[in-house]
Amino acid sequence: MHTMKNKVIVGIVAILAIVGGVIALSQIKVNKQKSVASGKIQIVTTLFPLYDMAKNIGADRAEVSLLMPPGVEPHTFEPKPTDIVRINEADCFVYTGKFMEPWAEDIIKGITNRKLIVVDASKGTRMIPAVFPDEDEPAGALDPHIWLDFDNAKIMARNIAQALELRDPADKAFFKQKADDYNRKLSELDAAFRKTLNACKSKEIIYAGHYAFGYWAKRYGLRYVAAQGVSPDAEPTAKDLARLVDQIKKNNIHYVFYEELTTPKIAETIAGEANAKLLLLNAAHNLTKDQFQRGVSFFDILTADLENLKIGLECR
Ligand SMILES: [Zn+2]
Repeated sequence: MHTMKNKVIVGIVAILAIVGGVIALSQIKVNKQKSVASGKIQIVTTLFPLYDMAKNIGADRAEVSLLMPPGVEPHTFEPKPTDIVRINEADCFVYTGKFMEPWAEDIIKGITNRKLIVVDASKGTRMIPAVFPDEDEPAGALDPHIWLDFDNAKIMARNIAQALELRDPADKAFFKQKADDYNRKLSELDAAFRKTLNACKSKEIIYAGHYAFGYWAKRYGLRYVAAQGVSPDAEPTAKDLARLVDQIKKNNIHYVFYEELTTPKIAETIAGEANAKLLLLNAAHNLTKDQFQRGVSFFDILTADLENLKIGLECR
């Protein structure tokens, strides 16, 4: 399955390398005019947290776009040929890392834009092993949801700032200041999480979605049980669901958390069986169309999550 996918991507990249050469020649003039017109660094990001970071750090010196259309589930996202062209035409391409975007490596190899600065945001972060509910765990797989560990998020923000500095060295102090501001907000949020989650009746998050919050469990000393593994591509089995319902009943849990961007059908089934209520816990992979238009931030999502955790885990 994956090999097939990779072959298709390699094929697309190969074709683009040829077509791209021709387009690159014919479009040099057009691109130059575009960048001269705005004078801003063109940044293409994959996931929403990277978009939010790049927007805040690049501020008025950058134009940031999100590769994934709003509402799209990122684990099953595959770039279209037009997306590859977009990456090729940017100044900076920021992706989370090979465990989140396994397709990125092949695309990067096929890039003809020699000036493109590629940012693997996971560089220097501390990753934890990926968790799957069943035994089919691929050896060496790491949990891709690194932005939810706020120390990792700070490293990601710094990686982005360094790339912008590489592109525009004259603005080094500006980008550093913006990254520091962003990271100060992350520290404040981290402190709020720690304080709130230290004073809860329950320490157990039952998640009717994929295994996205392993970093929070580790960081804040919580137990975390999810219906699916680190990617939501496989439907949970009846056994998985029964395991969750048992857990809820056994531990007298009153709330089940559900994930963003998917139908809450699994969550409704579990909550119904276990007589529990539902609360959203949003891992911020991507926004809905409506959230995107309203300009919802990474911090807005995480603050709302903390409010729901406070209710669901019965914190003081
Ligand atoms: Zn995920």
